[in-house]
Amino acid sequence: MCIGCGICQSIAGPDQIEMRLVQNGTERPIVKSTPGDTTIDKIMRICPGARIEGLPDHLVESDSQYDEMWGIWREIVLAWSAEPRVRYMGSTGGLLTALGLYLIESQQVDFLLHATASQRYPSFGRRFISRNRQDVLRAAGSRYGPTAALVDIVQILEQCEESGETFGFIGTPCDVTALRNLGAEDPRVGRFCKYQLAMVCGGFMMPSGQQDLLKQWDILMKDITALRYRGYGCPGPSRIETSDGAVTEINYVDFWGQDDSAWQLPFRCKMCADGIGDAADIAVSDTWEGGAPAREGQDRDPGTNAALIRTVAGQQLIAEAVAAGYVSLGNRLTPRDMDRFQPHQKVKKQSMWSRFVGMRAAGNVVPDVHGLRLKPLARRNSLSENLAQARGARQRCRDGSNREQTPAAVEDNRDENAT
Ligand SMILES: Cc1cc2nc3c(=O)[nH]c(=O)nc-3n(C[C@H](O)[C@H](O)[C@H](O)COP(=O)(O)OP(=O)(O)OC[C@H]3O[C@@H](n4cnc5c(N)ncnc54)[C@H](O)[C@@H]3O)c2cc1C
Ligand code: SF4
Ligand code: SF4
Repeated sequence: MCIGCGICQSIAGPDQIEMRLVQNGTERPIVKSTPGDTTIDKIMRICPGARIEGLPDHLVESDSQYDEMWGIWREIVLAWSAEPRVRYMGSTGGLLTALGLYLIESQQVDFLLHATASQRYPSFGRRFISRNRQDVLRAAGSRYGPTAALVDIVQILEQCEESGETFGFIGTPCDVTALRNLGAEDPRVGRFCKYQLAMVCGGFMMPSGQQDLLKQWDILMKDITALRYRGYGCPGPSRIETSDGAVTEINYVDFWGQDDSAWQLPFRCKMCADGIGDAADIAVSDTWEGGAPAREGQDRDPGTNAALIRTVAGQQLIAEAVAAGYVSLGNRLTPRDMDRFQPHQKVKKQSMWSRFVGMRAAGNVVPDVHGLRLKPLARRNSLSENLAQARGARQRCRDGSNREQTPAAVEDNRDENAT
């Protein structure tokens, strides 16, 4: 159930656990020297493959609203960057980038912790610290490859303790899960990380799946020198540069499949109990009807996000960013609008309780899940639908397709995060 977030390296220290490129083409933690029991226990409480929880109780107000599917919310609204260039560059409407720019330029925080394209493995993301506009813009866009965003979060908190600096975090929902889990036992998270923002997330693509897909365009992963998954339009083309100097632009619909059929997800993403940023201050999504863009009309889509604002801090952040001219708002939305924009998230969340039953039936450990409404959501399905989900998960576990080899590094170490 590893998703490669990197927080175990951060907890144990890189002399004991180190994120490395491994046999299946992703990054996984390599145990260099076995940590003590206390460290292992701590990792098991914080790892987002082992423990997944919704919004912490102290962030839920008496007037917060609740939806069985979409969780705690205070406002849901269409939103986008008020700067046309940022709206264009951003993955959807550039909302997360606009919020990042506002946080830095208004000095609400000293830096942003998020992700940008990896230089060494161009299809990957890497954790990135932004301190100015140029940095924030450099990190705009979605990284759909392995991204260890939390690889040194504990060390960052230590530095904040010394410097008194604060930061905002942008990441996937499972990154936010890990950060909230850490925050449950390390008060420095609450003290120094002022905002936790997530994109709604259907999962990333395994590098092996990307390679299969890119064969259609005669592109080998080893030849890629730069990969922009989307952005520069909504969704914008997937743009691939290769070492022979060629640039290939692929329509999003061809790259991902109209119904995500081309995606090869990691097992953890298939078993994701929270792709909707249940624990984030704000969860940000696309707003295409039916969950995917049409081939026609993409060049006229300016890009519009949905902002699912869950906390008072998130509400204040959006209001201030609007007042300061960074963010524009559109119509108010309801959880039922989110159902229309994100049907795949609805199906997945309603399936997860049964999938975990199937995993357990095959003798697998399942994550410890709290506050994510999985059982009541499963009751919305028919018995046969739940049985099919459980049997599918059980079969995957029995035939071993849920398993990865014990990770072994396949390349020299890299220290990209130093930049
Ligand atoms: C793996 C993945 C799956 C997704 N699945 C869905 C989905 O099912 N439904 C949906 O509506 N939207 C999905 N998205 C989100 C969507 O693509 C947009 O990212 C989202 O709408 C925010 O758009 P934006 O224009 O505000 O982003 P931008 O303004 O471009 O900002 C994106 C921000 O996210 C950070 N970031 C990007 N990728 C990563 C990463 N892998 N790890 C950590 N930080 C990262 C960047 O550093 C940047 O700060 C997914 C994104 C990713 C990365
Ligand atoms: S998901 Fe768990 S095991 Fe994987 S990198 Fe994160 S903390 Fe480590
Ligand atoms: S689908 Fe879930 S587990 Fe996979 S990257 Fe997204 S939030 Fe993480």
